[in-house]
Amino acid sequence: MSKQLFSFEFFPPHTPEGVEKLAAVRKQLAALHPEFFSVTFGAGGSTQDRTIETIRQIKAEGYNAAPHISCVASRRENIRAMLDIYRDMGIRRIVALRGDLPSGMGSLGEFQYANELVAFIREQTGDHFHIEVAAYPEFHPQAKSAREDILNFKRKMAAGADSAITQYFYNADSYFYFVDECRKLGITVPIVPGIMPIVKFAQLARFSDACGAEIPRWMRRILEGFGEDNESVQAFGLDVVAQLCEKLLAGGAPGLHFYTLNQAAPTLAIWKRLGL
Ligand code: FAD
Repeated sequence: MSKQLFSFEFFPPHTPEGVEKLAAVRKQLAALHPEFFSVTFGAGGSTQDRTIETIRQIKAEGYNAAPHISCVASRRENIRAMLDIYRDMGIRRIVALRGDLPSGMGSLGEFQYANELVAFIREQTGDHFHIEVAAYPEFHPQAKSAREDILNFKRKMAAGADSAITQYFYNADSYFYFVDECRKLGITVPIVPGIMPIVKFAQLARFSDACGAEIPRWMRRILEGFGEDNESVQAFGLDVVAQLCEKLLAGGAPGLHFYTLNQAAPTLAIWKRLGL
C-alpha cells in the first residue's frame, strides 16, 4: 500500500489576531507532518491578497503550501498573474475550483466550470503544479444528475487534474460508491476524503445546507438534542468522525484532508483517536 497522505485546510484570517492564532495552530498541526497545508480562496477574488499572504507565511515556515484558486467571475489575466506569483514563490500544488458567487455579485467572468481552470493552468504552466480538484461523494447540489456529476468530474481529469479532495460527508458508503464509479470510468487518480470535525451543530448545519453535504438524520437528531451543550456535541462528533476516518482508511482511502476551520484541537483529537 502506498503512503497515506494527510493535509490540513485553513481559511485566510481577517485580522492580525487571526493571523497570530493561525500561526500557532499551524505549529501544532505541523507536528503531525502533513503533506501540505491548503488555504481557501474567496470566490470572485474576495480573499486574494489574504490567501497569497497566508501561503507566503506557510512557505516561509518551511512547509508545503497549496493555495486554492477559484475561477468564477475571474479573468484569465488575473489567474495568470496569480499563477506567476505562486510559481515565483516555489509553490508546486494548487487546488483548482469553480467557486460560488454570492447571489447578486458580478458577472460570470471568463471561466464557467473548474475543468476550464484546470485546462488553463496546464496551458500556462505545463506540469509545474500538481493540480487538485473537488469531488462530491454525495454529488454537487447543482448537478443535473449523479451520473452527469461524475462525468463532469471526469472532465477535470481529462483537463489535467492529478488528484481530488472530496466535499465532507458522514456516510462512508457514499465515498466508496463514488470511488468505485470513478474507477469504472477509468478515473485512476487518488480521491482523498475531506473530513469536517464537528465543533458546533448550528455552524455545521449552516455549512451543510449551503454545500449539500448531508448530516444523516440520526446524527442530526442527536446533535439537536444537545442544544447549546457544545461539550457533548464535540464528544459525540469525535466518536462519529474518528470512526468514519477509520472506516475510510481501512477501506483504502489514500489519506485524509481535514477542514480545520483554523482550529487545532478538533483535528488533533481525531488524530489521537486514530493513533496515526
Ligand atoms: P465544477 O467542477 O465546475 O462543478 C460545479 C457544478 O457544475 C457541478 O454541479 C458539476 O456537475 C457542473 N459542471 C461541471 N462542468 C460542467 C459542464 N462542462 N457542463 C455542465 N455542468 C458542469 N470554494 C471557494 O470559493 N473557495 C475555496 O477555496 C474552495 N475550496 C474548496 C475545497 C474543496 C476540497 C471542495 C470540495 C470545495 C471547495 N470550494 C471552495 C467549494 C466549491 O467552489 C463549490 O463546491 C462550487 O460550487 C463547485 O466548485 P467545483 O470546482 O467543484 O466546480
